[in-house]
Amino acid sequence: MVASILVGMLCAHLLCFSGMFLLISRRLPGNRMGMDYFAVGNLLLASAYILQLVEGVPAWSVMSVVNHTLTLAAPIAYWLGAMRFFGRQVRLWRWLIVFSVVYGVAQLLMQWSVGPTARYAMLAATATMLFFAMTITVIYGVRTFAKDLHGEMIFFALLIGGICVLNALKFLKIVDDGLDALHMASRFQMIFYIYMSTLATIVPPSIVWLVLRRLTDNLRNMAARDPMTDLLNRRGLSEALQLYFKARNAAPAYLLLMDVDHFKRINDTYGHQAGDEVICQVADLLRSTVRRGDLTSRIGGEEFVAICLETDSEGVVHLAERLRAGVEGQAIKVAGSDHQLRCTVTIGISPHFYGAHALEDALRQADSALYRGKAAGRNRIEVANISDSISTENTEYAVVNV
Ligand code: GH3
Ligand code: MG
Ligand code: MG
Repeated sequence: MVASILVGMLCAHLLCFSGMFLLISRRLPGNRMGMDYFAVGNLLLASAYILQLVEGVPAWSVMSVVNHTLTLAAPIAYWLGAMRFFGRQVRLWRWLIVFSVVYGVAQLLMQWSVGPTARYAMLAATATMLFFAMTITVIYGVRTFAKDLHGEMIFFALLIGGICVLNALKFLKIVDDGLDALHMASRFQMIFYIYMSTLATIVPPSIVWLVLRRLTDNLRNMAARDPMTDLLNRRGLSEALQLYFKARNAAPAYLLLMDVDHFKRINDTYGHQAGDEVICQVADLLRSTVRRGDLTSRIGGEEFVAICLETDSEGVVHLAERLRAGVEGQAIKVAGSDHQLRCTVTIGISPHFYGAHALEDALRQADSALYRGKAAGRNRIEVANISDSISTENTEYAVVNV
């Protein structure tokens, strides 16, 4: 009786969250973060449990075959939903239909060749393998595709691992005690359904949390990054710098301001699209040339900033020279034309500075140095000197000359 009430509550939970996932999925663009697949997963599992309630004791019937198939199809739908959440393009119905046909046939063969106990044992064994594979995938995700969701992934690995262990125990019990092990009133079945009901309460809100976290992360990212190059914008740069200087023992930083030479000519000669292509390629080169942890930003049309952390004046000049030479040596392919474009950059380097509040001043000083570089013929590096220091009443600015 208690187990039946638990299963009934489990169904109600699953159906409510199925509707909720469906509503959320309709508000999400593109692959809907897999929410529509999660909705289907919940619906399949709820249907399986409803069939189980109707069926009562283990029996050989079409309903039972459908029940077993749905019980396993649900985690497959969740798995595919999770793949969509992480950006993989997978199809739900194709996999579900293939699985249902194969597993339906396997049940018939098992029932006729070995007997009913073997069919129930097959269900527990297949569920064990499925949840084991899911646990391993989630653990793998912690180190690879879901690094940003480290805590959440470990939490899911533990929950799914629990279902895997319970199904493995169920398999062993069926092998030992036959179909008696499946009586709804047995202690094991009670523990099994209490665990499943707990999961039905915990997992759906956790999935909603994952989606919310992804959405807010995306929003924060959009506010902090330039959409064309994916480099930080001015706001993102300032925030990242604040974060860096918040850390204890943060070393002073240097700022490089890089401007593409005669960029207007590129736009005028090859068109705005070719100009955009140049901006993207210079951004890629900047990203791949700086050290890991340094900050890169696009602060204007063809103006870029690199903030070099944990380095000295020599290191920053070397980096600037690598950037200058890199851009000069790079042939840029223009879409729709056989012509390969070449361009150069001029770089101004600020004195080293400490604290996010000194960013504007460092930018001004690098800009003065850059201006001198342009006047001196372009395609060169200029380091800020004392005359570039703009006197400021704000004594907070802590800029030291190189
Ligand atoms: P200098 O060597 O002195 O830097 O000359 P310049 O021609 O590069 O001069 P300036 O830096 O003033 O030119 C910036 C030009 O960049 C002007 C503007 O039309 C163009 N621009 C700004 N944003 C974009 C953009 O997103 N895409 C493209 N294609 N052009 C842009
Ligand atoms: Mg320019
Ligand atoms: Mg410019």
